[in-house]
Amino acid sequence: MNKVFALVDCNSFYVSCERVFNPALKNKPVVVLSNNDGCAISRSQEAKDVGIAMGAPIFQCEELVNRHDVRVFSANFVLYGDMSDRVMSALASFTPNLEIYSIDEAFLSLEGFENYGYLSYGRKIRSAVKERTGIPVSVGIAPTKTLSKVANHIAKDNPGMGGVFCLIDEKDIDRWLEKTPVKEIWGIGAEKALFLNRNGIFNALQLKKAPDEWIKKHLTVVTLRTLRELRGIPSLSFDEPQPNKKAIVTSRTFGYEVSGLGEMQEAVSAYVSKAAQKLRSQNSVAGYVQVFIETNPFKGSYYRNSASIDITPPTAYTPQLVETAKGLLSKIYKEGCRYKSCGVMLTNFSDENLLAQDLFKPVYTGSLNQRLMKVLDEYNRRADSGQLFFAAQGLGKPWFMKQSHKSKRFTTRWDELLEIKI
Ligand SMILES: [Mg+2]
Repeated sequence: MNKVFALVDCNSFYVSCERVFNPALKNKPVVVLSNNDGCAISRSQEAKDVGIAMGAPIFQCEELVNRHDVRVFSANFVLYGDMSDRVMSALASFTPNLEIYSIDEAFLSLEGFENYGYLSYGRKIRSAVKERTGIPVSVGIAPTKTLSKVANHIAKDNPGMGGVFCLIDEKDIDRWLEKTPVKEIWGIGAEKALFLNRNGIFNALQLKKAPDEWIKKHLTVVTLRTLRELRGIPSLSFDEPQPNKKAIVTSRTFGYEVSGLGEMQEAVSAYVSKAAQKLRSQNSVAGYVQVFIETNPFKGSYYRNSASIDITPPTAYTPQLVETAKGLLSKIYKEGCRYKSCGVMLTNFSDENLLAQDLFKPVYTGSLNQRLMKVLDEYNRRADSGQLFFAAQGLGKPWFMKQSHKSKRFTTRWDELLEIKI
C-alpha cells in the first residue's frame, strides 16, 4: 500500500490562540512576543502585510505598531500548550498514527484512506479542528513528509484553495516543484540553498533531478534523503535534527501497550532527557514543559490527556526537567489504561547565554549544573551512543519502540560479536 502523509500546520499559531479568546482581534494586525517581550515570534497576516518581520525586536517597530494600531501580546505558553493539545486531540481522531512534530504541527499517516478521497478528508480534518478549537489550520497531503510540507506551503500561499492541498499526481508534483525555490524545501537551509544556486539549481524540480552522486559528493546524506523524498520515496525518520526549532517534541509509539506507572515514568524520563539534550545542543533553555499520553484510539475506550507547567527561571538541566515531567505525568496518569504512546514537549526557549539573573532562584547559566550537563554531553558525543544517562530512564526500556527485528551491532560491540556454534 502506498504511503500518504498529511501535514497539518496551525496558521500563525500563537496569534490564532489569542484570537480564539478575543474575537475583536480578527482582521487586525496582531503580534506575539518572545520571552521578556523581546521579538515578534508570531504574526497575523495583517501584521506581516504592514511590514513587521519575523524575529524583529519590537522596540524597533514602534513606529509601525503605532501607525497601524498593531495589537501586541506577551507570549502565554500555558495557553498555547493547552490549545496545542486540543488541536492534537482533534487530529488523533482522524488517523491511527499521529506524529506530533512541533507545538503547532503534526504528521498524520493516511495510508489506506484513499477511498475517503484525500482532498475531502483533508477538508474534514480542517473543519473539525476549527470547530473544536477555533484554530485555523492548513493541510498538505502527499506521498512523503517533505512533499506534504511543500503541499502545506501551497495551501497557505493560495487562499483560494481553502486551506487544503493535495499533491499526489506525479505531473502535478513536478509542476509545483518547479515553482518552489530550493530554499523553501524542508531540510535545505540558507547555506545549502546558496551552494545549490551557485551550481545552477534554483527550484525543487531541478533538485529532484540532480544526480545522486553529485549530491553525495558535495552535500550530505540527509540531502540525499531529501532528494528521495522529492521523488516520492519516503526516506525521513523523525529523529532528523531540525536546528533551532521553536519547540522540541520527543514522542514515540511504544512497542507494546504500557499500563504501569513505573514504566510510564521511565518512558517520560527518557524522552525528556533526549529533548533536553537537543535543547542544549542549540544552546537554549526551556521555560515550559508539557507531557502527553494516549491510549489506542481504535481499542477500547480512548483516553488522551496532557499537563504542562511554566519553568522560571528557564533551564536545560536534565534532572530538574525529569522531575518536572514526572510530576506532570502523575497528574494525568490513569490506572487501568493501556497506553500506546507518550511524549514530551519543551518550548518557550531563551538563549542560554542571554539568560537574565533571577532575584530569588538560581539561574542555569553559569551554574555547576550547566557545567555538569556540558561534561555529560561532551562525553556522550564521543561515546558512540549515550552511555551516560539518568537512572530515572530505567535500564531495560522494554516499552521502547519495537526493535525485535533489529540485528546485533556485530562490528562495534564485544558483547554482540557473531557467534558460531560448532
Ligand atoms: Mg504554524
